[in-house]
Amino acid sequence: MSLHTAATASNWSFPTAVRFGAGRIEALAAFVRELGAARPLVVTDAGLKDLFPVHRTLDVLRKGGLQPRLYSEVKPNPTGRNVADGVEAMKTGGNDVVVAIGGGSALDAAKAIAFMASQSRPIWDFEDIGDNFMRADTSRLTPVIAIPTTAGTGSELGRSSVITHDDEHRKVIIFHPRMMPAIVIMDPELTVGLPAPITAATGMDALSHALEAFSAPSFHPMAEGIALNALRLIKTWLPAAVEDGSNLEARAQMLIASGMGCVALQKGLGAIHALAHPLGALHDAHHGLLNAVLMPYVLRFNAPAIADKLDLLSRFLDLERPGADGVIDWILTLRERLSIPQTLSGMGLGDIDIARVAAMGERDPCAGGNPVPLDRAALETILRAAL
Ligand SMILES: [Zn+2]
Repeated sequence: MSLHTAATASNWSFPTAVRFGAGRIEALAAFVRELGAARPLVVTDAGLKDLFPVHRTLDVLRKGGLQPRLYSEVKPNPTGRNVADGVEAMKTGGNDVVVAIGGGSALDAAKAIAFMASQSRPIWDFEDIGDNFMRADTSRLTPVIAIPTTAGTGSELGRSSVITHDDEHRKVIIFHPRMMPAIVIMDPELTVGLPAPITAATGMDALSHALEAFSAPSFHPMAEGIALNALRLIKTWLPAAVEDGSNLEARAQMLIASGMGCVALQKGLGAIHALAHPLGALHDAHHGLLNAVLMPYVLRFNAPAIADKLDLLSRFLDLERPGADGVIDWILTLRERLSIPQTLSGMGLGDIDIARVAAMGERDPCAGGNPVPLDRAALETILRAAL
């Protein structure tokens, strides 16, 4: 394991242009110009707009001779209306690039805003089903520069956004291959201020992406290799990032791991996400926290179908016990160390409509990636265990 990774400025072009290293935000104005743009719209959420990462972003843009506009109304679980308001702001400002800064919600909303600014169809027409994405007008798409301030969703390296349907109260995956940001700035200094509970919950989201991608039955050896290494980075660095938020090395490694989790998840997700999506949409609960709570129950349910994989994983991670038991032990110990509740009731969701959540989970596109086929009864069983 190389040391001092955080201080090593690196440029990668996989799966898009990544500018990695402490302090890379400094060159943001140059990156805007690299895209041939001059009028940035900075998109973030209300909770972040008065904090260091957004101030720094606006600062470096101004110092670079640009006049950024700010749209900071993104909600924790962004909705279609929320995106439409952002598109409106973008049109009013005549912006030619979106600078997305924040956690998964801000990045997802910003990517959807940039994409929808040149579409004439409603956003729901681009739900990630079949070849819906072929309907898009790609003649004048607005580029996105994505700057993650959490290490979790990896949305900065993803080609989709999760947007909550305003009327149907379900989470819809909006997909287009060109929703992938043009440039990603992975600057660990922007994540040091993230409070420990959010560091833990978002880190568990990254873990769930890598774990579900690794477990998915589809054939994608490249994604599988990336998922495995993401799991190893998370095992090594997540506790350190939570216990000492100013540990720049841990922050850097977690940014890399969360990006890798998102790259890997094109192999498929599974029951953790199929249940976290409806629970998040119905109860406005934190996505990463839901995943963390559901994880061991889903693992236990899937274990017989992925015994070989869990055996490999336990050896790769050098766990105390081999196989499924070792992996589940590791997850349970990690959760405890990160002070994550053990059950849905423990996170305040003791009163959920099991039948409704299971029915929504069965229809969620992530259900198809689970190693054990999921029907309503199976999801109800997992939910009952998780309560
Ligand atoms: Zn997730």
